Amino acid sequence: TSSDSSSLLSYGSNVTKGVGRITEGIMTSGKGSYVEYDDGRKMLDFTCGIGVTSMGHCHPKISKAAADQCMNVVHCSIAFHEPYLRLIQKLLPIMPDPSLDSFFFWNSGSEAIEAALKMARIATGRQNIICMQGAYHGRTFGAMAVTRSKTIYSKGVAPLMPGVFTIPFPFWHQLGGKPDMPDDAQVAQCLYQLDLLLAQQTAPADTAAIIIEPVLGEGGYVPAPRAFLEGLRAVCDKHGILLIVDEVQSGFSRTGKFFAIEYSGVRPDIMVVAKGLANGFPLSGVISRKEITDKLTPGSMGGTYAGNAVSCAAACAVVDAMHEENVLTNVNTRSEELFSALNALKSAHPQHILDVRGRGLMVAVEFATPGGPGAARDAVAAPVAATMASRVAKKCIARGMLILTTSVYEVVRFIPPLNISAADLAKGAAIFREAVEEVIR
Ligand code: PMP
Repeated sequence: TSSDSSSLLSYGSNVTKGVGRITEGIMTSGKGSYVEYDDGRKMLDFTCGIGVTSMGHCHPKISKAAADQCMNVVHCSIAFHEPYLRLIQKLLPIMPDPSLDSFFFWNSGSEAIEAALKMARIATGRQNIICMQGAYHGRTFGAMAVTRSKTIYSKGVAPLMPGVFTIPFPFWHQLGGKPDMPDDAQVAQCLYQLDLLLAQQTAPADTAAIIIEPVLGEGGYVPAPRAFLEGLRAVCDKHGILLIVDEVQSGFSRTGKFFAIEYSGVRPDIMVVAKGLANGFPLSGVISRKEITDKLTPGSMGGTYAGNAVSCAAACAVVDAMHEENVLTNVNTRSEELFSALNALKSAHPQHILDVRGRGLMVAVEFATPGGPGAARDAVAAPVAATMASRVAKKCIARGMLILTTSVYEVVRFIPPLNISAADLAKGAAIFREAVEEVIR
């Protein structure tokens, strides 16, 4: 009853302040593309819990697979369990490169990033890591050390892991350009900065890995141009540096291919997955080559809950459902519809909308800032500031759609369910349009 939930809600004041949320109230249920709150609000979900419940909330087959597993083996950290091995069996055929044949599962994206960084150091015997400006890899210490999207994660907690170097990601904001800056000029600048870095700051013989998101996520939803990824691969090959590809947000059909790296044809040495992998059950994976992982000592990786049986059973059902429901076809069709709606909005309001970008159903709209095109807003104040992107997101929420902002720029991101219907996608695009027009009116 509502009095129950209002007394429960009072415990909200006991929730640690460092934990974020975007809506008031208590979420009581989720089905497909919608979630419901205790006060009866029903919301269209264009966040998927930050790219996690990609096959929709409580997908019947995925939830059933998890429930069945709950009656069988829930936890097992001292032997193989069936869902773990079955998951490897299902993942092997969809790997972006056949060389990726060594799997280990953990709980969160951050933990898997930690493992990837350790693996790279162990396998190469080198210590330094190169990351991208604007990157987000997580909030644990190693992951935070290679995170460059906002200072809120590391503010006040330094010193972080040393030996981390940064190059710009090909994103016009980071290169002093405008949205129409040509890709090849951006790529050339960034690869030049990498060459300089390897000549001036970290010798190749000291450099273990380059880590990159194939679509910059928390840094602004920017797909890496193919030539950039190819360039990184070439530098890695030349110097024996490992390429770590973080597919935590972009993986599992989100961008219209199973993995976003497939758009480039580039081979990762280590690939990190999480989020959409198990549709809401905590599960991440570090995927590499035996040649690399054979250098590890048994017992040196993982933790008590690594590769939980219920999560692995859910992930098996995710992969099956993605095949059975032809989800990639839906992603690509819905993506075209979303781009066409957003580009129409941009044409209608060119002075307010700077850019529409992304891949598949990982899409962003960037607004012009009062400081002129491309001015960064205050990252620390951003979550509470009455900026354009957060004002639009709030209006969307008031109109019944959950949506998130991202980065230190004026960016709203669209992460709808991959199996969303044409009608719900159109409804979300219409709510967004109304919200934008209300804010700029
Ligand atoms: N890498 C990327 C690209 C991410 O988007 C995230 C989460 N937003 C992470 C790593 C960290 O994952 P987790 O929150 O599960 O630790």
